[in-house]
Amino acid sequence: MTHLLDPTAGAGSTRDGLDAWRELTAEQQPTWPDRQLLKETIDTLTSVPPIVQPHECDVLRERLAGVARGEAFLLQGGDCAETFDANTAEGIRGKVRTLLQMAIVLTYGASLPVVKVGRMAGQYAKPRSADIETTTGLPSYRGDAVNELHGERTPDPRRLVRAYANSAAALNFMRAMATDGSADLEKVHDWNTAFVASSPLGHKYEELATDIERALAFMKACGLDISSMPATHGVELYSSHEALLLDYERALTRYDDTGTRAYGLSGHLLWVGERTRQLDGAHIDLLSRLSNPIGLKIGPSTTPEEALALIDRLDPSHVPGRLTIISRMGAGRVRDVLPAIVEHVTDRRGPGSVIWCCDPMHGNTRETANGYKTRHFDDVMDEVRGFFEVHASLGTHPGGVHVELTGDEVTECLGGAHQLTDEDLAGRYETACDPRLNNGQSLELAFLVAEMLQRR
Ligand code: PEP
Ligand code: MN
Repeated sequence: MTHLLDPTAGAGSTRDGLDAWRELTAEQQPTWPDRQLLKETIDTLTSVPPIVQPHECDVLRERLAGVARGEAFLLQGGDCAETFDANTAEGIRGKVRTLLQMAIVLTYGASLPVVKVGRMAGQYAKPRSADIETTTGLPSYRGDAVNELHGERTPDPRRLVRAYANSAAALNFMRAMATDGSADLEKVHDWNTAFVASSPLGHKYEELATDIERALAFMKACGLDISSMPATHGVELYSSHEALLLDYERALTRYDDTGTRAYGLSGHLLWVGERTRQLDGAHIDLLSRLSNPIGLKIGPSTTPEEALALIDRLDPSHVPGRLTIISRMGAGRVRDVLPAIVEHVTDRRGPGSVIWCCDPMHGNTRETANGYKTRHFDDVMDEVRGFFEVHASLGTHPGGVHVELTGDEVTECLGGAHQLTDEDLAGRYETACDPRLNNGQSLELAFLVAEMLQRR
């Protein structure tokens, strides 16, 4: 067993300050009842193979640099909280297909390459507003990596190893899907689900898919070997999650081959949440020392000065593609709050210094009269529209969207093509945390965003 602070251990050394966060305030960490068990678990995670590789993180950073320059668009999506039970082949396939479907609509509609990043293969920890849930009196559910939703909810560090194993398995499956032919452009019809295919939206998608097929057939007829073209054969698919549990993230930190750069190898892109982004806090400190592409969530209380200070801290060397700012302002606030932030950052650091990405989910959550936490599709779209308006008026690039979605036909968000109502929510409300767009609502969002990109 390697010791946590052993400088010779695979997880890096203290010489680069990778453990400086331990002296700082870390918000949202579980209160583990058994510290010895935590230590043993962390020792295990320090010696396991990493889930992703430094080179992959570098390639993603290059792709994101293209997004920052306005030459590509970022699509980030997946569950609010993944669960061990729902980490099945079918579940992963559904989410990947939904992302591919959305990406093709965006690529085709907007004539921009789309960088595809799953909120998958690691999204197992959740920040919560209270330690104890008022409705049940139980400890809050903090994600499957910490405690179980249906049970006593006592934090159990052994769940961290299960989170690692589930993440590795999911990523392995995602990699296989990316290269086994199922993500090839020629399979564009297969990504549609029967449910969506029978709706007007599905017909619109089928039309687009038929267009693409014709174009491919034309290229083949002209003698082009499309099977060897990177754009048609296989797909690049990346993973991301909120880097919330610092013991876990630190344990999966490794140096690259040169031994000079540390990477958080639990996923390709790691983001800091709205609740843990304190400038002098532990999360910002650890992530500032990692070479991955980093995301930063900012909510409506963020000041332009605060945003700039965080950006300077996370990307002091102005590395292209390093930093994605994920704004989650709410439909009612985005047009007021975001302009000053974008303007200040662009003014001080130059255009394209970060990727501006819109999370239209987290500022638009509300509770229905019948007690469901939900979001209305119209509010989600209104925030995206506001985000595009802000960037249009400032001449900056609306770089991407970050959405909570699933490939299943759940009934968690209101509205959309099927006009889901309060009463419909009970039908298939399955999320372990926040309400997700279903397959149809996700596709609808993609069509609307493609139109906005076209109009730019
Ligand atoms: C989330 O992405 O699920 C989340 C908790 O978001 P935020 O940090 O923006 O509140
Ligand atoms: Mn969420």
